[in-house]
Amino acid sequence: MSDDNGSGIDVDEYDDVWVFIEEHAGEVMPVSWELLEEGRTLAEKLGDELVALVIGEDVDEIAEEALARGADRVLVADDPVFEPYRADPYGEQFRAMVEAYKPSIALIGGTHTGRDFAGRVAVPAHAGLTADVTEIDVDDDGLLQARRPAFGGDVLATILCEEHRPQMATIRPGVFEAAEPTGEADGEIVAADVVVEEADCISEVLEREVGDTADITEAERIVAVGHGVEGDLEPARELAEALDAELAASRAAVDEGWIDGARQVGQTGKTVRPDLYVAVGISGAIQHLEGMNKSGTVIAINNDPNAPIFEHADYGIVGDLFEVCPDLADRLEGDLQ
Ligand code: FAD
Repeated sequence: MSDDNGSGIDVDEYDDVWVFIEEHAGEVMPVSWELLEEGRTLAEKLGDELVALVIGEDVDEIAEEALARGADRVLVADDPVFEPYRADPYGEQFRAMVEAYKPSIALIGGTHTGRDFAGRVAVPAHAGLTADVTEIDVDDDGLLQARRPAFGGDVLATILCEEHRPQMATIRPGVFEAAEPTGEADGEIVAADVVVEEADCISEVLEREVGDTADITEAERIVAVGHGVEGDLEPARELAEALDAELAASRAAVDEGWIDGARQVGQTGKTVRPDLYVAVGISGAIQHLEGMNKSGTVIAINNDPNAPIFEHADYGIVGDLFEVCPDLADRLEGDLQ
């Protein structure tokens, strides 16, 4: 690759794969460990180091955990200015660290936080940022291949960033397995210079109002409703309660306005991998399957014996969901008493 490609950036000065470890008040977002696992694969292919980036307050334990889960090095910016999260200090700190350490690749979870501040790094750093990525790899030239649905999900686009660094991507939660602690933690923790002061911050958190926070990507059990429920979520809700499951939905149910879009599963929704996925009145369109085909056990309830969802289910119940769901809920509650 040329030293100077006209962008003014010498791409050969940049190496290492960075993974942003997102934490809030000491709690790490699971997507961070998913990216660490996938980042390890990229780093090994490239012969680069895998570096975890931790920004927060009192984050020593999180830095140790990142080492235990496979990072070669952890860069830490630890300061009260980073708690609670605000886009301006995070963006500025991350940008300064990019300038100081020059990573080739930077992976960030596609959470509210990641999407919020990634642009504040990419624009001033003149980096290439691909949002909502669902697959990553590196090509023969060592370039990051960031794949994401495009044109409303009709195609999967592979996006390369040849001339700018770092190659940044925000990546959907739930698409990769999480890195587990290895029992070995022989990497190093490096304290980075904190470049942000409270006086520089243009925002202040006065109050937090929490809305529908259900994160279906983290749910262990899901009951998902489709167009078959005809606007009546009650039978599925009853079943979800009996199973201690989160409610989710197909796009058809979301488009009808029966349920919040944050609960949509599929190509243009979320990717989920619960232990149990119950599809209620969902036909099994390819775009829906794409978001749930990594689930553990799949149960389909549908009154059409030829519905495609049955081909992707471990157990199928052919019947009217308005009868099957309450019946199942009753039996489950009976069992639990
Ligand atoms: P339907 O296909 O209408 O199926 C309803 C099912 O309910 C039927 O199988 C029917 O037999 C059954 N049923 C009806 N009444 C009952 C009853 N009383 N008891 C039991 N069963 C009953 N879809 C997604 O889900 N997620 C996405 O992210 C997504 N992205 C898309 C992106 C693009 C670019 C496109 C083109 C489409 C996308 N879709 C997505 C839409 C997808 O193609 C399907 O249209 C959608 O998944 C269908 O939803 P459904 O299964 O709920 O509805």
